[in-house]
Amino acid sequence: MKQIPEPARQIDVIHETDVLMVGSGPGGLAAAIGAARAGVDVTLVERLGCFGGNITAVGVEGFAWYRHEQTVDTEGVGREFEERALAEGATTPEPQSLSNALDAERFKVVADKLVMEAGIHPMLHRSFAAPIMENGDIIGIITESKAGREAILAKRVIDATGDADIAHRAGALTQKTPVEEMQAASVMFAMSGVDPRAFNAAIKADPQTYKDWESGEWSVETTGKEDRMFSPFLRKPFQKAVEAGIIPPHLSTISGTWGAIYETGDLTYLNLVHLPECDGTDPDSMTRNEIEGRKQAMMAVEALRRFQPGCEGAKLRNFGMSIGIRDTRKIRAVYDMTGHDVREQGRFEDSIGIFPEFIDGYGILILPTTGRYFQLPYRTLIPRGVGNLLVAGRATGGDKVSHAATRNMMCCTVTGQGAGVAAALSVKHGCSPDKLDISKLQSELRRQGVRLH
Ligand SMILES: Cc1cc2nc3c(=O)[nH]c(=O)nc-3n(C[C@H](O)[C@H](O)[C@H](O)COP(=O)(O)OP(=O)(O)OC[C@H]3O[C@@H](n4cnc5c(N)ncnc54)[C@H](O)[C@@H]3O)c2cc1C
Repeated sequence: MKQIPEPARQIDVIHETDVLMVGSGPGGLAAAIGAARAGVDVTLVERLGCFGGNITAVGVEGFAWYRHEQTVDTEGVGREFEERALAEGATTPEPQSLSNALDAERFKVVADKLVMEAGIHPMLHRSFAAPIMENGDIIGIITESKAGREAILAKRVIDATGDADIAHRAGALTQKTPVEEMQAASVMFAMSGVDPRAFNAAIKADPQTYKDWESGEWSVETTGKEDRMFSPFLRKPFQKAVEAGIIPPHLSTISGTWGAIYETGDLTYLNLVHLPECDGTDPDSMTRNEIEGRKQAMMAVEALRRFQPGCEGAKLRNFGMSIGIRDTRKIRAVYDMTGHDVREQGRFEDSIGIFPEFIDGYGILILPTTGRYFQLPYRTLIPRGVGNLLVAGRATGGDKVSHAATRNMMCCTVTGQGAGVAAALSVKHGCSPDKLDISKLQSELRRQGVRLH
């Protein structure tokens, strides 16, 4: 490929902080709050104009759709997100679980409040561009924005970009699922003008189960108990649309779940478009799939209008601000979690929190209906090859099956809060994150309401 040199330049250091979070999804938001509550200066950098990551930018509202009566759930700041959203009127009952779906738009305001109340320094509209390194340690980042390139210095950095952007560019060991094996990306959307009574009546008259996912394009491994459980799954309207020539036969992949129906006629978190082989670290791949995804979403809207009772007078309300990416880079951590850990209730001395046995991805669906849960080890946040850096959220270390569990938003808040508190304590005690006394970390996490065991 043709290349040109990029000239070196002097840039302004616009800000200095103790702990710098980059990315504000469930991982980064939880990390920032955890660090601030542990008593250090915290800065949160986000490339978009709102906090919340996939919740607000993509419209992923099913924050705890796995929760059932016997579920032993995470306790910590993630639960606070849900409770605070509920208190602020930013939720609606989630149809398949004992949980509340977040209202993606209203959650932008909830996240603003959480950030400001915690005394976090907010920096929206700045993208991480490059790490600033000194002797193998990261000591800050260069951002790119409308203001050009600027530097932010930090005693500790947390990579919560979802894609391990910082770890990767700082030279840490990372791995990326081969593109042909990556979990599909999705263009998410919401509709307005739905008749909620007619919609709910039709769902009730023909309830779908998780087993129904299997009859078409997908095979799903369950433990058997999931097969008869209700799922807000829609395929029939799209099958009819294929028969009617509205959807071409090769797009029989259009089907999936609806998330929430509001009294106002909003039908949200429509997870119906699945785009295989979309590489979320390749802007050309994302460009193609954004365009293809919107095209397919419009076909889905038309199919629902024609064949789903209650949707006759409905229209597209909005797309997510971005295509939704499930699977890109992960760090190779000091400990990489395994499928065995998440399937067989992994227990770790350096636990930073628990997450129920909820596995969703790579053709596996296991719901935590039995009280089984696993612990998350601190070592899964520590990258190899770069000092002063921790990773929170879906890019923590692990194999494919463990990713199908740890990528879930509530689990990202566990690794987030753990990373934030660890970074703060390592600043306070003047030690590198990998040398932190685990008992001190666990004691502060307990003080912050995290269930460790
Ligand atoms: C379509 C879809 C449906 C899903 N459904 C569910 C579900 O029902 N339940 C569930 O629990 N999980 C679900 N997931 C998974 C879940 O949403 C993600 O795994 C989770 O949000 C990851 O959290 P995170 O904090 O690691 O990253 P993200 O939520 O991706 O947040 C990363 C943040 O970092 C910012 N960022 C990235 N790069 C930079 C940069 N260079 N500079 C500055 N900022 C940057 C981004 O703008 C973003 O705000 C779904 C995912 C998708 C895509």
